[in-house]
Amino acid sequence: MSVRVRFAPSPTGPLHIGGVRTALYNYLFAKKHQGAFLLRIEDTDQNRFVPGAEEYITESLKWSGIYHDEGPGAGGPYGPYRQSERKDLYREYALQLISNGHAYYAFDTPEELEAMRKRLEANKSGNPQYDSQTRMQMNNSLTLSPGEVNRRIDAGEAFVIRIKIPEGQEVLVNDLIRGQVRVDSRLLDDKVLFKGDGMPTYHLANVVDDYLMKITHVIRGEEWLPSAPLHVLLYKFLGWEESMPEFAHLPLLLKPDGHGKLSKRDGERLGFPVFPLEWKDPSSGEVSPGYRESGYFPEAFVNMLALLGWNPGTEQEIFGMHELIEAFSLERVGKSGARFDPEKAKWFNHQYLQQKDPERIAMLFGEQIKKHGHQASIEKLAKIISLVRDRVDFVHELWDQAAFFFEAPDRYDEKFAKKKWKANTPGILLQLNDKLQFTEPFEPSQIDNTLHAFMEENEIVAGQVMPALRLALVGAGRGPEVKEIMSVLGKEEVIRRIQGAVERLGC
Ligand code: GLU
Repeated sequence: MSVRVRFAPSPTGPLHIGGVRTALYNYLFAKKHQGAFLLRIEDTDQNRFVPGAEEYITESLKWSGIYHDEGPGAGGPYGPYRQSERKDLYREYALQLISNGHAYYAFDTPEELEAMRKRLEANKSGNPQYDSQTRMQMNNSLTLSPGEVNRRIDAGEAFVIRIKIPEGQEVLVNDLIRGQVRVDSRLLDDKVLFKGDGMPTYHLANVVDDYLMKITHVIRGEEWLPSAPLHVLLYKFLGWEESMPEFAHLPLLLKPDGHGKLSKRDGERLGFPVFPLEWKDPSSGEVSPGYRESGYFPEAFVNMLALLGWNPGTEQEIFGMHELIEAFSLERVGKSGARFDPEKAKWFNHQYLQQKDPERIAMLFGEQIKKHGHQASIEKLAKIISLVRDRVDFVHELWDQAAFFFEAPDRYDEKFAKKKWKANTPGILLQLNDKLQFTEPFEPSQIDNTLHAFMEENEIVAGQVMPALRLALVGAGRGPEVKEIMSVLGKEEVIRRIQGAVERLGC
C-alpha cells in the first residue's frame, strides 16, 4: 500500500515553526516512500476562524519548499480538502455511532455542565468530566426516554453528540516514535463528536477524513497524543480498524533554555521569530516577525527545522531537501523535546550564505546598495560578496561589511591610526602610489607583486605599510585582504584614497 500522509492545520492563526516542522516531516516521509503528501484544512471550529490564516499556511509551506500533492488548490481524488466544504458527510458517521451504541445525544446546557463540574470538584471525586461515571446523571439519550429525545430534537433543542467511552478497557496506541502507549479508558471523557451547529468536532472530522482520504500514517505534534486513544476507539467503533493509520507523535519544540514549550513570547523576549513569515494579527494589528522577513534563506530554515527532533545518525548538518528526503526516517526522530537554539538558526543561514552562488545573492545586494545611492554590475557585486560574506549571517548584513567598496572613508579609526599611522607613513604610501600607477593589470596577483617588490626595494616590512594602507582604503583595520580590496576599488580610486588619507591624517 502506498504511503499517504497529511498535514492538517487549523486556520486559527499563523503557523508556528513547530507546525512547519510537522509539515516537513510528513513531506519528507511521503517523498522518501514515493507516497503522497496532503494538505487538509481543519476549519470546523468556526469560532476560532481567523481571516488570512489559511493563506498564511499555504504561503509558508510554499516558501519552505514543502509542496502538497493533494489539497485545496491542488485538487486530488479525495477532495474537497477543506473540512468546512465536507460538512455534510460527517453527520452520517455520528449517526452510525449512535445506532451502534457508541455515541449518544446530550442536551445539557452550559449551566448544567458547570454545575456538574462544581459538584464533582466539591466531592473531590476524581476527574470532573463527562464520562462513564457521570453520564447517567446528565440529560442525554442514555437517561431520557426515546420519546423525550425525539421530542427535544424535533423541538429544535440544542444538542451535541458524544462518544460513549467503554468502561474498564485498556486502549492501545501503537506509536512509531514512542512504542506502545496503553491508556485506561476510565481516564477518557465522552468527548463531543458533533455539535449543535451541524459541524463535527476535530476528533470526528479528523478520523473520518483520515479514513476517507486513505491516510496510512498520522504524523503530528505530541500535543495530540492524549487524543490518540479516542481516535483509536473511533476507528474501532466505525468498523475501520483494518485501515487504521500508524501513529507517530513528534517531540515538542522547547524553549532555548530547554524548559517548556517554545512560545511566541520566547521569540519576543529573546529576539527571534517563531513564525515562518511575518504575521499581522487581523484583530489587534500586532505584527510578529517571520524567518522570511528576517532574512533567512528557506533552505536554511528548513535544514534547521529538520534537525530539531530528527538526527541523521552522522555528523552531517547541512542537508538540502533531496538529501533530507534520502536520509529521513521516523526511527531517528527522538522521543524527548528538541531545544530550539536561535544561534544555531543563524549558523545555518551563515552556512547557506557561504555556499550560494554569489551571483544569486548579487541581485539582493544590489537592491541594498541602491538604497545607499550606489549601483554596480552583477559581477562586481558578486566579487564583493565573495570577499565579505564569511563575516555575516544574512544578506542584509553585507552592506555594513562592504560599504567601503562604494564610499571612501570619511573618517579613520582613531585607535587603529594611533597604532599604525607613523610619522614616515605618508612618505611610504606616496612612494607606493607611484608604483601602483604602473601596476598593470590591476589585479590581486599583480598588486601583490608590486607590494612585495616595493617593500624589498625600500627595505621595509609588511607591518610598516599594510595596516596603514588598509586604513587609507577602508577607514579601519578590518576587511578582506588588501590586494583584493584594491583590485575591486580599481587603480584610480586606490590612489585617490591613499592621497586622501595622507592629506587628512598627515604626519
Ligand atoms: N487540526 C489539528 C491541528 O491543528 C490536526 C492535528 C492532527 O494532525 O491530527 O494541529
